[in-house]
Amino acid sequence: MSDMMHKPLLISSLIEHAAKNYGDTEIVSRTVEGSFHRTTYRDAARRAKRLANALKHLKIKTGDRIGTLAWNGYRHFELYYGVSGMGAVLHTINPRLFPEQLQYIIKHADDTCIFFDLTFAPLVEALAPHVPGVKAFIAMTNREHMGGLAQAKIPNLLCYEDLLDAESDDYVWPQFDENLPSSLCYTSGTTGDPKGVQYSHRSTLLHTYAGMATDAFGLGSRDVVMPVVPMFHVNAWGLPYIAAAAGAKLVFPGAALDGASLYQLFEQEKVTQSAGVPTIWSGLLNYVRTHQLKFSTFRETVIGGSACPPAMIDSFLREFSVNVVHAWGMTELSPLGSVCRLRAKHLLLSPEEQFKVRVKQGVPSFGIEMKIIDDKGTTLPNDGVAFGDLVVRGPWVIEKYYREEKSASRDGWFPTGDVATIDADGYMQITDRSKDVIKSGGEWISSIELENIAMAHPGVQEAAVIGVAHPKWDERPLLVVVKKPAATVTRDELIAFYNGKIAKWMLPDDVVFVDQLPHTATGKLLKTKLRET
Ligand code: AMP
Repeated sequence: MSDMMHKPLLISSLIEHAAKNYGDTEIVSRTVEGSFHRTTYRDAARRAKRLANALKHLKIKTGDRIGTLAWNGYRHFELYYGVSGMGAVLHTINPRLFPEQLQYIIKHADDTCIFFDLTFAPLVEALAPHVPGVKAFIAMTNREHMGGLAQAKIPNLLCYEDLLDAESDDYVWPQFDENLPSSLCYTSGTTGDPKGVQYSHRSTLLHTYAGMATDAFGLGSRDVVMPVVPMFHVNAWGLPYIAAAAGAKLVFPGAALDGASLYQLFEQEKVTQSAGVPTIWSGLLNYVRTHQLKFSTFRETVIGGSACPPAMIDSFLREFSVNVVHAWGMTELSPLGSVCRLRAKHLLLSPEEQFKVRVKQGVPSFGIEMKIIDDKGTTLPNDGVAFGDLVVRGPWVIEKYYREEKSASRDGWFPTGDVATIDADGYMQITDRSKDVIKSGGEWISSIELENIAMAHPGVQEAAVIGVAHPKWDERPLLVVVKKPAATVTRDELIAFYNGKIAKWMLPDDVVFVDQLPHTATGKLLKTKLRET
């Protein structure tokens, strides 16, 4: 007797659900060719099946890895479903990694073929001789645009639309064990080689249920969601799956992530919800401010990936009535860890008190457990004051890195490498990365707190605080600042700006102005590099 309650949780069921129940809901993409493309869940499901047929004809087997080098767009969306749905593993590659890292991960993942957006043709051309294991490179475009690749030295080059044209829509999604791998993403890592993080159908579906919740992304069929976070960075935080489950309209911004292009999409497509890292939003905020614009439908954005500067949360709400939802996650967590939303009791507080809650990284989504521990592994109190190493566990947290024998967890908990406090209501707040903490005279100084204060200064574009060796105090904080264009802020002004905001002994000793700060491929500050220079 088959047991309905044991029906496997498979990614293909998401697109089937969307096609059946939200068939005419739109998926709008800005293409790399520069136009807007409009499709629906019904059509995307149909094309994902054609793609699955095409993969079968390319002799792709269950478990084979298929790489993508692509922006957020409808073809990438079709790959999310076609590849995982047919039982292969979608390996989304971050094109911003260094060439050596790209070669390393393509070989390490043993990708059998790579689908790429035209933007990345030069990159693919340079990579191809170094990754002989890749049997085909498929340009995600139509025949008409293949002409541009005539001179490119890309071996075994195929055209995406040709592949789909040759197939029928007739395909039944195979049913298999939900624990089979579905997708793979490498962490950019601030040290060492990138590490592979592999998700399963089951972990992805559980993450999808959690992500839909009102206190998580809170997406529904009335929403129009624009994932600005790339589909090559932890599956755009799961939004391509969550939106399909919820029946929300999807808007994909493609390669144009500047303020003007994003603003155009927000207005034109009536976007209600978005998600991305802080860097993207400063570009958009600058644009709407200088052009004195307003948003007509945009009401909420989830910001995470790095600490969201409190000044950004404040600006969005006060100047543009957009609610910023601060969230924390990691590639190793699929990525959803915690989300920060105010509770009923917080609404009775003053705006200042509410703000103190909003800036936290929030409460774990159901399924995730969190605790903070000291050096000896002892659990520390949830009092909002004690801080320690943040460890987590849950059904969408990895046990091991891809192709590693050694478990990544300790005593059943995954060490995040972040240092945090947790308050009595369960709200977690990151104070530092364990590698980045500054210890002055035996006392910890939170580099994030110092950075956030600097970022609130109108002349500051970006700020980083690092510890520098000091003969007496071991380490003292140094503030490194990129000024806003045309800003004239000085060292003394910045130091004075801290007055009254933090204890005197926490003040940065000095300020260094630079033209730019080093970032990882996912836009995180690369403090190891900064310390070296
Ligand atoms: P990644 O796996 O590349 O997404 O990086 C995960 C890391 O980004 C976490 O371990 C944190 O150090 C950092 N991170 C993510 N979200 C936040 C946040 N809201 N505040 C502070 N740090 C964050």
